[in-house]
Order: sequence, then C-alpha cells, then structure tokens
Amino acid sequence: MQLPQIQRRKSRAVRVGNVTLGGGAPVSVQSMTSTVTADAQATLAQVRALTSAGVDLVRLAVPTRADTAALERIVGESPVPIIADVHFQAERALEAIAAGAAKIRLNPGNIQDRDQVRRVIDAAGEAHVAIRVGVNEGSVVERRDTARRQADLAKPLDDLMVEKLAEYLQTFQDAGFEDLVLSAKSHDALTCVSVNRKIAQRWDYPLHLGVTHAGTAQTGSIRSAAAVGTLLVEGIGDTIRISYAGDPLPEVAAGLELLYSLRLRPRVGAELVACPTCGRAMGDVAAMAEAVRCALADLAEPITVAVMGCVVNGPGEAANADLAVCAGDGKVVLYVRGKPLRSVPIDQAVQAVVEEARKLVGR
Ligand code: SF4
Repeated sequence: MQLPQIQRRKSRAVRVGNVTLGGGAPVSVQSMTSTVTADAQATLAQVRALTSAGVDLVRLAVPTRADTAALERIVGESPVPIIADVHFQAERALEAIAAGAAKIRLNPGNIQDRDQVRRVIDAAGEAHVAIRVGVNEGSVVERRDTARRQADLAKPLDDLMVEKLAEYLQTFQDAGFEDLVLSAKSHDALTCVSVNRKIAQRWDYPLHLGVTHAGTAQTGSIRSAAAVGTLLVEGIGDTIRISYAGDPLPEVAAGLELLYSLRLRPRVGAELVACPTCGRAMGDVAAMAEAVRCALADLAEPITVAVMGCVVNGPGEAANADLAVCAGDGKVVLYVRGKPLRSVPIDQAVQAVVEEARKLVGR
C-alpha cells in the first residue's frame, strides 16, 4: 500500500563536519548540552549520551574563554560534529573556530559592531566552518527607546524577523560567505510557522527549526510538534531541535519520533502502537505497552508491535502491525501480520510478545 510522502523544499547543501544540512540530506536532529562547557569531561559525557540517543549534531554554549579553551578537547573526542553557540562576543566565535568547531551559531543582533561580525565571517570562511544566523523574537525589536523601536513594534513580528534576518545576511553576502544555515525562533508556535514559511520562500539556505523557550517536556513537546511538525509537513526544515527545560536527552527521542512519524527518516527499532483503551479493554494496555517498549528498547530493526485492549476491534485495528497482542478474558492472543498465532495467559503476555518480536527480527 502506498502512503503519502513529504515533498521537501530544495535547499542548498551545507556541510557541518560529516553531516550535510540541506541539499536533500535527511533532516538531522540537534540538541544542546546543559553542562558548563569548560568542564570538558562532564560535557563529553553528555555529548556521548546524546549520541547514543541518536543525535546528529550537538551545540555547546561558549560564553567564556574557559569554555572555548575546553572546546579543542571536546571537538577532538566527540563522536558527532560540535556547534559553538556564541551570543555577545565575537572573540568567542574566533576562538571556537580556531578550536575546530564545525559550525558557529551567531545572532548578529547581539553583536553591534559589524567589523567584528566580518572578522568572524572571514575566519569561518578560511576554516570552512558553517555559520547559523539566527534571529529570535526577543532580539529583533530595537531595545533603545527610539523612533526605530516604535517602528519595529508597529510591524507584524514575523515580518520584522525576516527584515532583521535580511539585514544581517547582507554582511555575509557582502563577504561572499555562503555556508549559511538560517533560523528564526519564537516562543509562539504560529509565529514560528509563519516566519519560517517566509524565509523558505525568500532564501534557499538550509533551515534550522525550533521553538524558543518551549517550556518543560509536557508543553514543549506539543508546542514544538505543532510548529516544527507543521513546517516539516510542508517540506520546510533541514535540521531540528526540540528544546525542553532540563535534561536534553528526551529532546533527542522526541525529535527522532517526530521525524519517524512523518516518514522523514526510516525508523530505527520497534514502533509501539497501543490502543487508547475503552470500556471493552480486558487488560492493562498502558502497563503492557510500556513493559514491551522497555524490553525491546535494544532492537535496531524496524518492527511494529501493537498492544490492544480487546479481541473485538484489536485484531482489525492492528492488522498492519508485524506483531500484535490483543487482550481477552484472562488471556491474550498473539497475531503475526494479522494472522492469529497463539494465546497465552495474560500474565505471560509481555514475555510472549518480546519472544515473538525477537524471533521476527532474527534475534
Ligand atoms: S482495541 Fe478494543 S479496548 Fe482498545 S480501544 Fe479499541 S475497542 Fe477499546
């Protein structure tokens, strides 16, 4: 059966270490460490944990000289390309480029001196380091109380963000620098969607998508899925970050799940389907599904496993799953690709599903 596929926007390819953004390359998943970068050991431990979780690129904040001093070791030992996140000081960007960062994230709105921005561009050009030029809703309105601030405030936020981005890009274009990735982030999901649509129409640089200050996992996941998911469905976006407050590891799982759900990336490991349960449910579907998910977490092979609460609707609903388990009265029935296989007592259900799943993938 043929399923719909996303037609991706054509963007130019930009290399970030061994990862390509744009140019038809798979949408990559980024995350950002929450350690103090100067603590190279702790930062590397988190980079490795993020890599094991499936991240493609990791960004580190480098607010101090001690942070950029730790970068060389981190870059040397990291399994994935490292991006240095620079805000106010061009010096940090120059140090990060010298330390081997694969990409710099710069918000030129935070660096007032254009000559300093130009020095960073020249150094990045020589070292073949990509630069993400990012605008955030918080940095586009003129802060000083001037006529310009009043004019900024009178404009629609998405238009103002595009206008500021165009202004910043002029400096890069004047320097002939093309290894650019663009981003425009807002806390507001609809603004994110609108501004990125406009950017996608105007430039062909790869786009980094994300929602800023998305909140905790509960709100952040929904807000990010609303904004990033909408854009991805429209074919917009070359790399994504789902950002939450706190531990960055769950961000990676959420980013990958979003890409798997939209078939932008072939799934690695088991896809778990579970029915929402209703008055017909004959077992604890949520507990069974979670136990199966944990027991199959080590599988890399793509296999769909469905956990359903009854044998009335369960088998039909799960007919497309590789393996399904449907609860009955004190027992469960296992189905392989829609065909009944065997029934087992309900307290042996998880063990039986895990055994069959491993058999199906040859493990
Ligand atoms: S599979 Fe059965 S228990 Fe689950 S939601 Fe459907 S009808 Fe209800």
